[in-house]
Amino acid sequence: DVEASMKVVVVGNGSVGKTSLIKRFCTNVFSDDYKKTIGVDFLEKELQLPELGTSVRMMLWDTAGQEEFDTITSNYYRGADAAVLAFASDNRDSFEKIRSWYQKVTKECGNIPMVLIQNKVDLIDQAQVRTDESEALATELKVRLYRTSVKQNLNVQEVFSFLAQTHLQR
Ligand code: GDP
Repeated sequence: DVEASMKVVVVGNGSVGKTSLIKRFCTNVFSDDYKKTIGVDFLEKELQLPELGTSVRMMLWDTAGQEEFDTITSNYYRGADAAVLAFASDNRDSFEKIRSWYQKVTKECGNIPMVLIQNKVDLIDQAQVRTDESEALATELKVRLYRTSVKQNLNVQEVFSFLAQTHLQR
C-alpha cells in the first residue's frame, strides 16, 4: 500500500545534473544529451521501503531551466516536503552557490529535510571540489552528503530512500 506521498524539489545551478537525476531515479534512463527540461512540472515514482513495510509516492520537481532564484516561482516550492541541494564535482561555482540555495529553500519552505549531493563524481580528472570541502559544507548546513554519479547510477536510489524514510519518520 502507498501510505504517503511527498513532494521533493531539486535545486542547484544549471547543468549540475538535476534533470538527469530525476530521470534516472524515475525511469532509469541516462542521456548524454543536454536537455534543459523534462517538459513537465514533475516526475513521479513509487518507492518501496521494505524496511518500513510501506512505500511512498514521490513527486520530483525539476526547476526546468529556471536556474535564477528570482525566476523560480513560489509554486515550485509550495508544499515541498524535502529538498535536494545539488552541485557538480567539475563545477566550482555550483559548489559555491549551495549556501544560497539552502537559504532560498529555507526561506520558501521552512525547516524541511534536505540532502546535499555532489554529482558527477565519475569526472575524477576534472574535479574542482575536494572531498573534505563538501564534507565540511554538509556539516555546516547539518545535512547528509551523498556523492553521486547519475551517469554510473551511483548512490541515486540512496538519496531518495533517505529522504522518504526521513519524511515518514517526521
Ligand atoms: P541540470 O541543468 O542541472 O538539469 O543538468 P542536466 O541533468 O541537464 O545535466 C547536464 C549535463 O551533465 C548532461 O549532459 C548530463 O548528461 C550530464 N550529467 C549529469 N549527471 C552526470 C554524471 O553523474 N556524470 C557525468 N559525467 N555527466 C553527468
